[in-house]
Order: sequence, then structure tokens, then C-alpha cells
Amino acid sequence: IMQWSLQRQSSWVQLAGHQGNFRLSEGGEVLKRFSEVEAVCLQALMVDPLRSFVPQYYGSVNRGGHSYIRLEDLLSGLKNPVIMDCKMGVRTYQEEELTRAQTKPTLRADMYLKMKKADPTAPTKEENEQQGVTKWRYMQWRDCNSSSSTLGFRIEGVMMDNGTVHRDFKKALTAVQVTEALLCFTKSQLPILKSYHSRLQALGESLKESPFFKTHEVIGSSLLFVHDRTSKASIWMIDFGKTIPVPSGMELRHNVPWALGNREDGYLIGLANLSSFLGQAIDQ
Ligand code: ATP
Ligand code: MG
Ligand code: MG
Repeated sequence: IMQWSLQRQSSWVQLAGHQGNFRLSEGGEVLKRFSEVEAVCLQALMVDPLRSFVPQYYGSVNRGGHSYIRLEDLLSGLKNPVIMDCKMGVRTYQEEELTRAQTKPTLRADMYLKMKKADPTAPTKEENEQQGVTKWRYMQWRDCNSSSSTLGFRIEGVMMDNGTVHRDFKKALTAVQVTEALLCFTKSQLPILKSYHSRLQALGESLKESPFFKTHEVIGSSLLFVHDRTSKASIWMIDFGKTIPVPSGMELRHNVPWALGNREDGYLIGLANLSSFLGQAIDQ
């Protein structure tokens, strides 16, 4: 638990990603460091059935020598928002990243340290001796050390209404732990749980209709859950920096296991689990 101090004068808070990647801009906009991959996705999403689940995209802008993507600030107008970032999918690296990392197996000291910090027993004897791990070993460990590989999503971070940020939910592995986290995040308030549940169902319907979804490997993308004390609650799709099109003619199902080469991301496995946990929380 840590107290969030940055930019508390507005409701803006950043639950994931590098600190330097974002700037708050005037007029209810958020500026995120430009990536071509993400810009292309957002452009396509603005004319897709998923449009109402994605922050408005206003194109790009230059500030202080850097390019940024202009996005609707999803927290704008909310008082003491409560937010949760759920990273979707059974893996959070692209197939491309994995094969690249496997062909160039250099040892990474930074990843070794991150791994050791999260779990001192995770590095093998050999990795401890080398003080390094390969990138692909780190990527796979990260997904298996969270609920990503088993449940198809993981909770990256939660901010409560008093501004405290929890990132330790990342380690929630089991269905029981994740459901507990959801109850804690909503303080078990029934109207909020119900709003989230129906929003997820509407998202499920739109995903079925979406040409974008059928043709993209959606990796490292999150659902951002947002509510405040007025009980308004919504869910948004964010972060398309690793979402890439599959070869033309190919379509993904998103609800089958991943095997190297099939490009499947398990997005709908995560969505079904999230929806079922929320449903159980409502029935409790
Ligand atoms: P990473 O790849 O490490 O997840 P990133 O740099 O790609 O991070 P995002 O995941 O897009 O960044 O966003 C990081 C955080 O910023 C989110 O968890 C959320 O808290 C906040 N955020 C992002 N986009 C918006 C938005 N449009 N409105 C409000 N908050 C946002
Ligand atoms: Mg993210
Ligand atoms: Mg990202």
C-alpha cells in the first residue's frame, strides 16, 4: 500500500505503466506517449462496434519534443473515483516478442532483480549464480505468477476512494483471492456490482460483433473499472500498445487455449471468469 501523491489536485491517477508516459492536458484529455501500434488500433476502434467501450481518441499532438496520443480522460468529472486496472488475456507478451526473445537469449539483470523482489524463491540456482534471467523466462514467469495464465486476467492495481493504491492484488492467483479483491474494491455494494456485471455483458455482445476483435491479437490490454460514490460505474477498454492485427484471412476466437503459433490471447476466457466472479459476488 502506498499513498498516491502525484497530481492529486485532479482526479487523474495512473495505475500502471511508466510514470513518464502520461501527461494531463486541458479539457478532460489525457496524453499518452505516442505509439504507432496503439494509434492505428484507436483509429480503427473509433469506427467499430467497440467504440462505446473505448476512450474517445482525438488524434496526436506534440508537447515538449514528444508525440502523444490524445485520449478522453475517463476519470474526468468523478469525485474520489475508485478504479481498477485488469490486464486481460492468458498471456501478456506477443508471440513475436517471445520468439524474438528466444532467438536472442541475453541475460537480463533488471528482470532478475524484479523477479527476485517479487518472489525470492523464483530464480533457479543457475539464475542466482548468473544474476540474470532471459527475457522469455521472465515473461512466462510473470504470467504464471499471477492469475493471467489460469484465469485469463490479472488485477494490476486498484485505487480506493481515499487515494490509497494497492498493487499487491497482482499476486492473487486463485478464483477465491480474485473474488475477494473484487468485493474489497467495490466494498460489496450491490448496485455497483450489478452495473459492472451488466456493462461486462454488453461488452461481451459488442466483442461478438466487432471486426476489430476478430482480427487482432489483443495483448497487454486492460479493462479499466471506474466508479464513484454516486454509484455510477463503468468499464473501459484501454492500452492497445501491444495489440496487433493477425495475417489477413485469419480470425481469432479468443476463448481457446494458447499454443505457440495460434496467436490466441484468451481474452474471452478472462472476460467470462470476471463476469462469473461478479455474478457470484452479487448472489452472495
Ligand atoms: P502498461 O503497458 O505497463 O500497462 P501503459 O504505459 O501502456 O502501461 P496504460 O496501461 O494505457 O499505460 O495506462 C496506465 C494507467 O493510466 C491505467 O492503469 C489507468 O490508471 C490510467 N489511464 C490510462 N488511460 C486512461 C484514460 N483514458 N483515462 C483515465 N485513466 C487512464
Ligand atoms: Mg496497461
Ligand atoms: Mg501498455
